[in-house]
Amino acid sequence: MDRKEMECRLHERFSWLDSLDEQNSVLGLVFCKSGWYNLICEMLTEIEQVYNSKNLQLKSIDLYEIKEKYGTMQTDVGNCIPEVYEIVERYEAKSEGVCEVCGAEGSLHDIDEWLMVRCEKCFHERKRRFYKRGLIT
Ligand SMILES: [Zn+2]
Repeated sequence: MDRKEMECRLHERFSWLDSLDEQNSVLGLVFCKSGWYNLICEMLTEIEQVYNSKNLQLKSIDLYEIKEKYGTMQTDVGNCIPEVYEIVERYEAKSEGVCEVCGAEGSLHDIDEWLMVRCEKCFHERKRRFYKRGLIT
């Protein structure tokens, strides 16, 4: 699943996300690999549950970006109740244990000062590619 497909699926499932333009063509919500897709779905589902239980409007939430930064998943959100920030922080911590590429159990790796969460398999694959390009000697 590429980034575009991931983002389209999220919009289908969570209709309150509104980062698409009128032609449904602008992709600007998710900037990470699809190994975190399930994590994102769980996070958005929790946010939905909190809002529904309080009878609040999900559409009022400003969800700007879900991205990989310094290796972990970070969600840029505003105009929401404090519980949402707690959920987002919890999933940021959770992402440290989930491979961003394939979704398997992973850990934070440092490849040439570049932080990323990878399972052993994806980590070695990545290292091999770096090695090939002469970036690691
Ligand atoms: Zn992996």
